[in-house]
Amino acid sequence: MSDTPTPYHINSEGYYGEFGGAFIPEMLYPNVEQLRLQYEAILSDPGFQEEFHQLLKDYVGRPTPLYHARRLSAHYGCRIYLKREDLCHTGAHKINNTIGQILLAKRLGKKRIIAETGAGQHGVATATVCALMGMECVVYMGEIDIRRQAPNVARMKMLGASVVPAISGSRTLKDATNEAIRDWIQHPTDTHYIIGSVVGPHPYPDLVARFQSVISQEVQIQLQEQENRSYPDYLVACVGGGSNAAGLFYHYLDQDQVSIIAAEAAGEGITSGKSAATSALGKIGIIHGSKTLLMQSEDGQITEPYSISAGLDYPGVGPMHAHLFKSKRADFISITDQEAMQAALKLTQLEGIIPAIESAHALAVLEQRKFEEHQVVVLNLSGRGDKDLATYMEFYNLK
Ligand SMILES: *Cc1c(COP(=O)(O)O)cnc(C)c1O
Repeated sequence: MSDTPTPYHINSEGYYGEFGGAFIPEMLYPNVEQLRLQYEAILSDPGFQEEFHQLLKDYVGRPTPLYHARRLSAHYGCRIYLKREDLCHTGAHKINNTIGQILLAKRLGKKRIIAETGAGQHGVATATVCALMGMECVVYMGEIDIRRQAPNVARMKMLGASVVPAISGSRTLKDATNEAIRDWIQHPTDTHYIIGSVVGPHPYPDLVARFQSVISQEVQIQLQEQENRSYPDYLVACVGGGSNAAGLFYHYLDQDQVSIIAAEAAGEGITSGKSAATSALGKIGIIHGSKTLLMQSEDGQITEPYSISAGLDYPGVGPMHAHLFKSKRADFISITDQEAMQAALKLTQLEGIIPAIESAHALAVLEQRKFEEHQVVVLNLSGRGDKDLATYMEFYNLK
């Protein structure tokens, strides 16, 4: 990809426009450099691709359906297709990336996997592929998050992972990330660090986007079958770090006839002080080793984000999305907790599908944007709502 320059894909220096790069401590340089030098060759090896796609098919359950949601379409007056990532093994798109990265780790000769997790979804997806491959797995997680996300901690432990609490700072995701980086510095040769979204130093954003791009690859084929053309009018996805969105957008980034909409978490409101609306509130800065948009105070301290959906509760966006925002290639829409929760109920009652609250942020875009009857809207249903049942029970008093 790096030898075919496009305005929206990564360039050969690891940048999307002005965003990206690798801003890392010197002691991490050898680890990241090994990855950078080898990832393209490994990914383009036919043997790698064959093993990756075989596992996506037989283990993850791909291709996921592209479902024409007729009642939802009638309600909103356009042609809505849901890309059913909620039907993936472990309940969300995250497994596409962890399958890819564990195969990459094996080919790099690594024996041990580390990861950071906030809500625990990426930790579970990582622990899952480590069990599958018989690899040691250490997941760093903020002490506060361990308490908030007990079921996912239990899943990781049952899968054989050790869950190590990060006890510094705010004891949440960014502290867990710092611990993971410290571990990686101490274990430069035998350990691979599986990052869970299109964030982190180059080449991670590109690596994760490529693994997730199976989503848009499938959408092209499925739309051709159902609509007789391979592209939609609109793509809609929620953005936390941005991996499910990057996967849905990937093969359409350079197709101008496709409009792109990204839904961010506005929490209790953009100006409420409790939000994760990075494009609205973020300024350029460095987080997790890349230059991107992030929410920060006047003196550059990272702001603690908030969203009812744990998966969108992230203070930055990946560099691809910072560039899509800045260049206006994508439209960013902020969705409040309230709006997301209502959209979740609507999908459940119109289509019999309980979405993850993250995905419900994308669904809420349908309330805010008017589409025309003939227009085709493909919306990424990034995950299923089982993990969010306690939140739904409380919000809708379903007891
Ligand atoms: C983690 C997660 C997200 C947010 O992560 P991205 O990298 O932005 O995709 C969205 N939806 C679900 C279901 C998730 O688990």
